[in-house]
Amino acid sequence: MTSRRKFIQSTALAGAAVLTGLPRISAAKEKSSSIVRKPIVLSTWNHGMAANEGAWKVLSAKGKALDAVEKGVNVTEADFTNHSVGLGGLPDRDGKVTLDASIMNEKGECGSVAFLQHIKHPVSVARMVMEKTPHVMLVGEGALRFALAQGFKKEPDKLSETSEKAWKEWLKKTDYKPVANIENHDTIGMIAMDEEGNLSGSCTTSGLAYKMHGRVGDSPIIGAGMYVDNEVGAACATGVGEAVIKICGSFLVVELMRQGMTPDNACREAIKRLTLKNPNYKDIQVGFLALNKNGEAGAYAVQKGFNYAVYDDGGNKLVDSDYFMK
Ligand code: ASP
Repeated sequence: MTSRRKFIQSTALAGAAVLTGLPRISAAKEKSSSIVRKPIVLSTWNHGMAANEGAWKVLSAKGKALDAVEKGVNVTEADFTNHSVGLGGLPDRDGKVTLDASIMNEKGECGSVAFLQHIKHPVSVARMVMEKTPHVMLVGEGALRFALAQGFKKEPDKLSETSEKAWKEWLKKTDYKPVANIENHDTIGMIAMDEEGNLSGSCTTSGLAYKMHGRVGDSPIIGAGMYVDNEVGAACATGVGEAVIKICGSFLVVELMRQGMTPDNACREAIKRLTLKNPNYKDIQVGFLALNKNGEAGAYAVQKGFNYAVYDDGGNKLVDSDYFMK
């Protein structure tokens, strides 16, 4: 007898296929392992390797996924040589570094900051928004005021030497065209499952280089740059945020996993949707990363070049993502 649940699941999968024009993915293919791989942490790009080390210190000591995803990306935020995360990031077109970050825990609690300046660890401010305010998101001057009131230090308005040089070079032509896989490292998104089987996620970035002053990307938008549902899985995104926001990217990936897809197929389906909704997809890069409750990881990107770091009890590894534009 076909159970109601199975019926709903297969109908939902068929529905997803109709929406994107993809062939229906059979339920059998989507069968996932019964062994739960935990703890585990995944993060975007090469810089994910060092960030995972930070997260693993927490996870291997039986710490919470929430602490792991904060401490992990703090490593990247503190690296002034990184040109896409934290205060070392490339500036907007006015020469200002403005930061976006978000965090979410297993209870569905979340916090974020956007268009924040002068703060070394925006993700930690996002966590305080989650824990100490009745709100989810603070931006700009208000976010800065909140951070300072919480004891964060106001850092000087100073570009790193390389960022300043690159910006001055950009000013000569002022041509705004985000380059796919800029130096092969972008936003850091991190998703983790702890020993208890709880999921959390974080995302932090200086956003797209030479964006308009005031522009906010997908990273601090809950459901776009990152999303966690402890019953199902977690996802995060990197690349051109405008394209991710238009399809509520990370939420979509989690919902597709809820319908029974593996993390890989959920990311693939979300990228397919993104290409249908963004006619300029051939010129941009977006990558999704996903983790389900079994500790299975998956990723997919628009273009070649997206990679991610996975740390479990087998060690820390860098993996190349599959991609759409072949
Ligand atoms: N997603 C980020 C943004 O649009 C940028 C990136 O991942 O490089 O702000």
